[in-house]
Amino acid sequence: MATPLTPTSAAVSHVGRIRASNQDSGYVGAHLFVVADGMGGHAGGDVASALTTQRIAEADAEYATPEDAEYALQSALISANGILAETVFEHSELTGMGTTVSGIVRVGDKIVMAHIGDSRVYRFRDGELEQISSDHTFVQRLVDSGRITPEEAAVHPRRSVLMRVLGDVDASPEIDTRILDARAGDRWLLCSDGLSSYVSEDKISNILQTVRTAQAAADRLVKESLDHGAPDNVTVVLTDIDDSNGGSGAPPAFVGAAAAPLSYDADAQRRPIRLPTLLLHPLKATAAEDSHFEPEREGYLEELIEEDRRRARRRRIVWLLLVAAAIAAIVTGLVAAYQWTQTHYYVGVSDGKVAIYQGVQQNIGPIVLSHVYQTTTIEVDSLPTFQQESVEATINADDLRDAIDIVNRLDDLARQ
Ligand code: CA
Repeated sequence: MATPLTPTSAAVSHVGRIRASNQDSGYVGAHLFVVADGMGGHAGGDVASALTTQRIAEADAEYATPEDAEYALQSALISANGILAETVFEHSELTGMGTTVSGIVRVGDKIVMAHIGDSRVYRFRDGELEQISSDHTFVQRLVDSGRITPEEAAVHPRRSVLMRVLGDVDASPEIDTRILDARAGDRWLLCSDGLSSYVSEDKISNILQTVRTAQAAADRLVKESLDHGAPDNVTVVLTDIDDSNGGSGAPPAFVGAAAAPLSYDADAQRRPIRLPTLLLHPLKATAAEDSHFEPEREGYLEELIEEDRRRARRRRIVWLLLVAAAIAAIVTGLVAAYQWTQTHYYVGVSDGKVAIYQGVQQNIGPIVLSHVYQTTTIEVDSLPTFQQESVEATINADDLRDAIDIVNRLDDLARQ
């Protein structure tokens, strides 16, 4: 597990608290540092990450220029991809295996990175943690294209779906490379998503700030993931940039699957043939708990985005139906209430004359709940004072007939 190495670098890999096997691999060498996170169910993931890490470790050398290192690192990744394809060809039970890989090489005051997948490369400098690698995930594409926010990506149901890995799918995978400055005092961290998905960048930053040696800091980072339940394998490779020109001379070391003997030959016979679930359900991830790669065939991203749109549309439709139902209920209630008010009549004044009103005297804000039903020729001024006041204050009627009776009585009084 923990592998003490040079004073300035360390690699730690842990199976975690849930998984039965460690499919991560890591490498720490004189100039090169690697993390790979394998996937593919059954025995595939550990084979993929181990073969890849072992192949890339062959590129651990002192390079004359960063460009030389970039070329060598990229070539090593392409070569590893070919090895995975050949291995699957000879062991069909490993079909569908793949691996992320992130590697950095130090060349003097430069760091050269090669990267594919969602393992991460971070640079910690002056108290600031910066993610140097980009996640080749479906949700990162959605974030990059402005379709969702990083906050939405963090809880997206497809957040673990990878768009690019090494494996048997693509003969020429697209690999990111970068050349960056390295300064004395920098800490460069490589990790699998078993760390970055469960431990916040604030926490990672805090540990890198406070824990002095590379080994102790790597141990603390892995412990932090374990304290968060470590549902996934977790691998951390850390190298501190010192004033030397790189190259500690310490023996190289592997951790995780790459540190164990490859086991796929032994149990090949008893491994069941994988069912083609991907063909039956092209938009569903395979059932294997740790297989979260979905190959990026022609139009696949569009299908995923369309599926995402459909989900958003469904949510919107359900929401609209609920709102419509609520509005309908309110409108129905208001109509019923209004109709109830219109069964009532009262007697009042309109243009100085007695009038029968339909509705109720009360208004709701600007909504008037009554209107003149019938005017009369009876002048209010011609009524005795008491009746004048009564009419001005309005006189309730039981119904239209009652209102007419009231008007008739007022008419009699007016004539007296
Ligand atoms: Ca993982």
